[in-house]
Amino acid sequence: FRSLSALPRDLILATTQNQRMVRVGQRWGMRLGAARFVAGETLDDCIPVLQRLAQRGIRTYTIPLGESVSDRSEVERVVRLYEQMVERLAHEPFDKTLSVKPTNLGLVLDEELAYENAVRILTAARAEGLFVRVEMEESRHVDATLRIYRRLREAGFDNTGVVLQAYLYRTEADLRELLPLDPNVRLVKGAYLEPAAVAFPKKADVDRNYCKLVDIALAGGGFTALATHDDAMIEHAIARLAGSPAAREGRYEFQLLFGVRSQLPDRLVERGHPVRVCVPYGRDWYVYFGRRLAERPANLLFVLKSMVRG
Ligand code: FAD
Repeated sequence: FRSLSALPRDLILATTQNQRMVRVGQRWGMRLGAARFVAGETLDDCIPVLQRLAQRGIRTYTIPLGESVSDRSEVERVVRLYEQMVERLAHEPFDKTLSVKPTNLGLVLDEELAYENAVRILTAARAEGLFVRVEMEESRHVDATLRIYRRLREAGFDNTGVVLQAYLYRTEADLRELLPLDPNVRLVKGAYLEPAAVAFPKKADVDRNYCKLVDIALAGGGFTALATHDDAMIEHAIARLAGSPAAREGRYEFQLLFGVRSQLPDRLVERGHPVRVCVPYGRDWYVYFGRRLAERPANLLFVLKSMVRG
């Protein structure tokens, strides 16, 4: 059984899977408080936010919001959007990268289509010196996502990386299998609703596993993106980084989400650590926003306050 404290998280995540709730959420727009976590509805809204972060010495990445797409024309629209983003961002002088969800590339329809679309985006990105990370979604997509990542690396794309989730039992083995590739790995705890058959139900176990994955990744020869807002995880990583080849060779960075613990990026930069903040944008922000609420149900209070203010 999941612990009682996990209930609000499960409940909020369940509403993000309900199409009616998604439509209601979208209709009430940024007024619900999403503007705290999302830079706006268009890339033009997002770029000034990226610029301001760059002025504070903070690297950024952006992702257009939208969940799994269900037909080929929608997939094609997403791929074109990425090509336009690459073109638009290429002219910006600051350090920027992109992330993409494999289901947005058509993974649910056809794995080969998703791979070919990743190739198209990475080819455009490589020409402009941009990096594009393939994100990790629900556990049922992990095998296919890792296969796509491996194929991209075999095809010579070094401007890409992958994400591993500490809540999955399988992740330690996945990380060890990737290490010979010197992968660029983002380590996260995991944001989806997963059954106890595949994921640790207790936070303490997820945290323990996260620290273990940090140790394994930092001892390898790849690049590690430490994506967590958890002070205990961050301090664990900082202790491991001290005097390590990964630190000496600049093969790590902390990654944080826009609007979550907003003082944290500056504090880490002041301590001499590279930091990259994810700044999402787009009209389909509701599911992303729901996930941020689920991580910290206290954020609901913030939403209620913005509704009262109107
Ligand atoms: P938690 O234990 O959840 O939180 C630690 C502390 O951080 C909390 O006590 C609180 O103080 C603060 N905090 C955390 N979340 C919030 C919030 N929403 N609002 C306010 N305070 C908060 N997950 C995936 O499954 N796939 C991905 O590809 C993916 N990419 C990510 C990229 C980045 C850069 C980050 C930072 C996260 C990503 N995630 C991804 C989400 C991740 O899996 C977690 O759901 C999320 O980061 C919360 O876990 P945490 O490590 O911050 O620790």
